[in-house]
Amino acid sequence: MPLHIETPLIVSRPLSLRTGKQVWLKLDALQPPGSFKLRGIGLACETQAARGKRRFVSSSGGNAGIAVAYAGRELGIPVTVVVPETTTAHARHLIAQEGATLVVHGASWQEANAQAQSLLDADTAFIHPFDDPLLWTGHATLIDEAVRSGARFDAVVVAVGGGGLMSGVIEGLRRNGLGRLPVVTVETHGADSLAQAVRAGERVTLDAIRSVATSLGAKQVCEQAFALARSHDVRCHVVTDGAALDACAKFLEDHRLLVEPACGAALAAAYEADAPALAGIEAPLIVVCGGATATLDQLAAWRAALPPAACPATP
Ligand SMILES: *Cc1c(COP(=O)(O)O)cnc(C)c1O
Repeated sequence: MPLHIETPLIVSRPLSLRTGKQVWLKLDALQPPGSFKLRGIGLACETQAARGKRRFVSSSGGNAGIAVAYAGRELGIPVTVVVPETTTAHARHLIAQEGATLVVHGASWQEANAQAQSLLDADTAFIHPFDDPLLWTGHATLIDEAVRSGARFDAVVVAVGGGGLMSGVIEGLRRNGLGRLPVVTVETHGADSLAQAVRAGERVTLDAIRSVATSLGAKQVCEQAFALARSHDVRCHVVTDGAALDACAKFLEDHRLLVEPACGAALAAAYEADAPALAGIEAPLIVVCGGATATLDQLAAWRAALPPAACPATP
């Protein structure tokens, strides 16, 4: 029995009317810890437990850390999550709520991660947030479910941070005989490490993350994601923070689910005026990847802090 659940797959009436397409939504926001991350992380944790590991360590203050904490609790294996001081009180609460030991260390993720690495020993598994073949194989179950349910989609829309989800989606398409379907990858400006890498023809490293979509904030995508962007029909799309936040608000209104801007970015591909990212696509499957770390107040604060130019007027 995997640790993740099979999530609902629906046709969105509001998004289908808005775009003139058949828009499928895979609602992974409904995974118990709030994001798709449990698919891959659940498989990685189960596999490490079967290998005899007796403790898990994560250095993610985001959805990956929450998913490791959840998986450890389910498996009866203690988890330590090391996060930097910048991690919000809400994210700390979500990790602690899963029963993990929370260690706050350092001003940035680099320092927290170094501390996490110093905790490793032969009995302990470090669970990476995106760069591990086990994660991709676990994430691929999202496509298995969509195919099994009979959904007839002709492209997948997916948000990209470090590229673990994208790698899993493409693995899932290929193992279901759908390796020819295009994948639209969406990032926000300031967290667009895949789009920049594809443009440069090499895996660039961003000097900083400048976006409210913190879950997309990997300065460099994993090698697998970069390689797949070259061997698969991958179409990179980049949206503004304003568009991602708008999509979160509209999605809350349309489907009553609160998601992070990281997920709002993927939804923005359909909510943006004229949906340019979906040109030539008739039935997109949007991965509603979720995210548990942003509250309604936080979303409003980000919106209020946007520079006016990036904030489209609401009618
Ligand atoms: C982790 C995460 C992403 C990005 O996934 P990657 O595997 O890092 O590309 C997108 N959205 C949410 C909500 C996430 O938690």
